[in-house]
Amino acid sequence: MTAPAGALLDSSNSGVLIGIVAAAVYLTVMYVAVAFWVVRDARRRSESWFFALFAGLLGLGLPFFGVLLYLIVRPPRTLDEERALQLEEQALAEEEITETPTVRPCPKCGREIEQDFVICPYCRTQFARRCTSCGKWLRLGWHVCPYCAEEVGLPSYGRSGRAASS
Ligand SMILES: [Zn+2]
Ligand SMILES: [Zn+2]
Repeated sequence: MTAPAGALLDSSNSGVLIGIVAAAVYLTVMYVAVAFWVVRDARRRSESWFFALFAGLLGLGLPFFGVLLYLIVRPPRTLDEERALQLEEQALAEEEITETPTVRPCPKCGREIEQDFVICPYCRTQFARRCTSCGKWLRLGWHVCPYCAEEVGLPSYGRSGRAASS
């Protein structure tokens, strides 16, 4: 009677022992994996080895709770995300630059002036004149004002250019 009971006790004991060992192995593996993940995540988020070391100590020194602490103090973005954000900002800035008015050479002095200038600021050559009726700027080649349909006659490009430069 005692032998089977002892065997039963032994087998249940070894069962418990196996359970404890399995749990310990499982927790150890989890603990190492979590610490490993913390260090790798720290390396992805910071170029500083000191930060990676700090994260590793946090992960190893405070099992499982260290990870929670790490999640609170870690930089919000990974280096890759940071880089992508920088590239995006750079692209936006470049777009703004290309959106500025394009330049063209002045037909008289050849210096670069903006496309929509009505007069060259260097040699005072006029490219546009005001409508005598509504006052809007018209290109010299236009014979009629597109804003108020006023007949403005022939362009006075040569006359005004000479008069201004003399
Ligand atoms: Zn000019
Ligand atoms: Zn007009």
